[in-house]
Amino acid sequence: MEPSPPSDSLPPFPDLNALPLEALAGGGRLGERPEGFRSGFVALVGRPNVGKSTLLNQLVGEKVAITSPVAQTTRNRLRAILTTPEAQLVLVDTPGIHKPHHLLGERLVQSARVAIGEVDQVLLLVDGSQPAGRGDGFIVDLLTRTQRPVQVALNKHDLVDLAQAAELEASYRELAPDWPLHPVSALTGAGTTELVAALAAGLPEGPHLYPADAVSDQPEQLLLAELIREQVLEHTREEVPHSVAVQIERIVDDGPRTAVLATVLVERSSQKGILIGKGGSMLRQIGSGARLQMQKLIDGPVYLELFVKVVPNWRRSASRLAELGYRGD
Ligand code: GDP
Ligand code: MG
Repeated sequence: MEPSPPSDSLPPFPDLNALPLEALAGGGRLGERPEGFRSGFVALVGRPNVGKSTLLNQLVGEKVAITSPVAQTTRNRLRAILTTPEAQLVLVDTPGIHKPHHLLGERLVQSARVAIGEVDQVLLLVDGSQPAGRGDGFIVDLLTRTQRPVQVALNKHDLVDLAQAAELEASYRELAPDWPLHPVSALTGAGTTELVAALAAGLPEGPHLYPADAVSDQPEQLLLAELIREQVLEHTREEVPHSVAVQIERIVDDGPRTAVLATVLVERSSQKGILIGKGGSMLRQIGSGARLQMQKLIDGPVYLELFVKVVPNWRRSASRLAELGYRGD
């Protein structure tokens, strides 16, 4: 028997009665239920680097999830909200399923399993430019046991030439004979309209769960922290792999400008040296990259101040993880 996760680890889903209807602006209002409307939660599941974050951003059309060529950059569960005239899909990004190495790794896997257990449907994303492999088999097994309806998106279809397409698809067909397969490109958006329609058709009839113009239920702080972390990963690549966490200390909205004060935590002083760079050059690059992304998100000028702090072994410390918002769910 599969051990079930402790019940107190489930994050609260929105209590529709507790939210003030009139406070929510926009077209489809919370709780509204047009004729034949469907709504529900879809877990996005897949190995690291298959393009989960890219797909979320493509579908929602705003930068809600960080993407990176470095595997395993998604740490927090992120809900992206996609509203069409026919349906509202709440997409739950899950960290890549992989073999855990640290305490943090174990939590990522557990988080993915909990996410699967509580949704209406699962979207399994695979790298469709590669034939199905053993890692995919592991995930298919796991999903089969959750007994949730699953649809499979064969991503990175833009990299596949016509001659290979049938053979690649056949390898996934063999692995998951009962689940619908959809070739897509998260990068270009090709096939995503069809994918969304198929997912929507698989949801139960129901009302708007979020206002129609919402794109994410993550606090702004977390989104801002993720933008900084993304820049750190982009600029430092292998040197400072996953030893980085970002804490937003303060957000001050002083009229035309938003000031953000943030601390980047690293595990060793050598990493701090790399992050700061010669005369502060690296930190300036990271800061200006993050600032540009923040300005897009906030839609206004941003002043960003970054500090770097060494906290040995933050990844192994449970209390430290909790403080940074990596909860044990
Ligand atoms: P995640 O770990 O599953 O969230 O993967 P990411 O979304 O961070 O993407 C990993 C890498 O794959 C990034 O370099 C993306 O640009 C790239 N990628 C994602 N989707 C596609 C796609 O449809 N086509 C191509 N060519 N690259 C993609
Ligand atoms: Mg990701």
